[in-house]
Amino acid sequence: MTDVFHQVLPPDYHTHNHLCKHAEGEPIEYGRAAPAARVPHIAATDHCPTDDRYGSDHRMALEQFDSYLTSVAEARAGSPVPVLLGIEADYYRGCERFLGPWIERHPFDLVLGSVHFLNFWGHPVEPRGLSDRRDPDVIWMLYFQRVGELADTRLYDIVAHLDLPKRFISLPPESRLRELALPALDRIAAAGMAIEINTAGLRHAPRECYPTFALLRWARQCGIGITFGSDAHQPARVGDGFDTALRLARAAGYTTSRHYVRRAWSEIPLPEPAPIHARDTVPSLNLG
Ligand code: ZN
Ligand code: FE
Ligand code: FE
Ligand code: ZN
Repeated sequence: MTDVFHQVLPPDYHTHNHLCKHAEGEPIEYGRAAPAARVPHIAATDHCPTDDRYGSDHRMALEQFDSYLTSVAEARAGSPVPVLLGIEADYYRGCERFLGPWIERHPFDLVLGSVHFLNFWGHPVEPRGLSDRRDPDVIWMLYFQRVGELADTRLYDIVAHLDLPKRFISLPPESRLRELALPALDRIAAAGMAIEINTAGLRHAPRECYPTFALLRWARQCGIGITFGSDAHQPARVGDGFDTALRLARAAGYTTSRHYVRRAWSEIPLPEPAPIHARDTVPSLNLG
């Protein structure tokens, strides 16, 4: 009993599937990967369709959304762990017109909010134009402005990969980062939103989770909740790096993470770190 308890990690609230054209597998395969990864449940959060061809190469078409719902329902029915219905929805100026009523119409458990593009900057492809490399401070300034606007829409539950530009450009010095990010964090807190610890950064250029540790500490000080996400684009990535993410969360002062159902959240104690040699140190109960 103790072993099983100690081996559990937080749920994985950021997973993709083949519908977005750059991920592999069906939601049920991500669900099947969860037990081995010690993840108690997952959310399917594939890239949201749009009605305006925004980033259409990196997401399901609007007509495919029904098949997404079907595949998540199949995962719910057949996966060994519960599978929540989520979506990773982009924020960009003007997105609310479509996104607001569209999100309302569907029974989501959680909605991730992501800034993948500024006016001239793209994800997951190369940054567009050299100007962003020439003046990274402008990118960071615009990026955190957009994150603040994202929070103000009240359309989303969780900010995904809070410092995503570091995949392409260096983080600003900490004092400047604080100056740029704090207004956004205040707006996230005012919206009652959470941020995620996204472990995909461990595999990307920055080789650290999103967000960087300083941001996580400030988020904690602002009273912002957390979730955990692998941003898996392959089933085998479910729960990737969660032991690291858990240590970061604790180091930043977090003792709970948020669990979502139908867009309502509760704070659940963080799992204990896995004990070393638990079998040697815990007296075993021989129940025959
Ligand atoms: Zn993706
Ligand atoms: Fe994303
Ligand atoms: Fe993602
Ligand atoms: Zn992503």
